[in-house]
Amino acid sequence: MKLGILSTNRNLYSTRRLVEAGEERGHEVRVINHKRCYMNIVSHNPQIHYNGEPIRGIDAIIPRIGASVSFYGTAVVRQFEMMGVYSVNESVAITRSRDKLRASQLLSRKGIGLPVTGFASAPGDTDDLLELVGGAPVVIKLLEGTQGVGVVLAETKKAAESVIEAFRGLKANFMVQEFIKEAGGADLRCFVIGDRVVASMMRQGREGEFRSNLHRGGTAKLVKITPEERSTAVRSARVMGLNVAGVDLLRSNHGPVVMEVNSSPGLEGIESATGKDVAGMIIEFIEKNARHGKTRTRGRG
Ligand code: ADP
Ligand code: MG
Repeated sequence: MKLGILSTNRNLYSTRRLVEAGEERGHEVRVINHKRCYMNIVSHNPQIHYNGEPIRGIDAIIPRIGASVSFYGTAVVRQFEMMGVYSVNESVAITRSRDKLRASQLLSRKGIGLPVTGFASAPGDTDDLLELVGGAPVVIKLLEGTQGVGVVLAETKKAAESVIEAFRGLKANFMVQEFIKEAGGADLRCFVIGDRVVASMMRQGREGEFRSNLHRGGTAKLVKITPEERSTAVRSARVMGLNVAGVDLLRSNHGPVVMEVNSSPGLEGIESATGKDVAGMIIEFIEKNARHGKTRTRGRG
């Protein structure tokens, strides 16, 4: 097969591993920087150009779209879909999971455990918003944040009010969440491919830090997850429509709760914590499932 990896940087660990895993299995692999792709919007024979040439002959793509280029990146994925190219994660699924509000509304509708969460843009009544999620301590998150930036723990009502005021001043959308204290600054990353959790790890924030993000100095270790955690992760990926997903769970007193569902989960942490060839498993999934024109939405929606 001829595989395309949409990535802005071929030197990133995940990109390198996918290239390596694809080539090991006898595929031709090309890294395509989606930011440099340009397209024609036509109903007949849609194309993607790159450095003055049309991109041709790609059988399947693996989108690795960073949060800062979701908008343009998903447009490029959609164009590939319109050309009939199989995308391991569809553009609509990526868009769905990138929007934290949309994602949590969809997950809750399917009965998946979530922390009690309130959304607000310019709340008319901060007190009531805080009441809605059970009062302080609460976690307040900017909707557009990643890697733990814009995620604040407000231990008291006063602190929560100041943070909400600041976010309002920035005209930012945010969510207010019940603080899952019992998680102890740790979360579970479940790596889902198809309908299986193929690898999982526990990330622990450094001393005194409630955020477990590896980018914030957290550490990862191997963990055995429960059948309930396994099925929560698989169902969450399915609700988002993602074939490859990193589902983050917290262990709460009321069972596993989903933090987020990531459509371009990193490979470095999970492969080094588990010793598994996750990149290889992604390629194998594509070998089994990629068919021309198989993308369910074909770029619709
Ligand atoms: P980001 O997209 O920036 O990674 P997250 O929503 O995943 O934002 O939050 C970052 C980290 O903060 C999580 O991995 C988790 O460790 C911690 N965290 C987030 N929300 C809560 C919460 N409601 N209760 C306890 N810890 C939380
Ligand atoms: Mg996170």
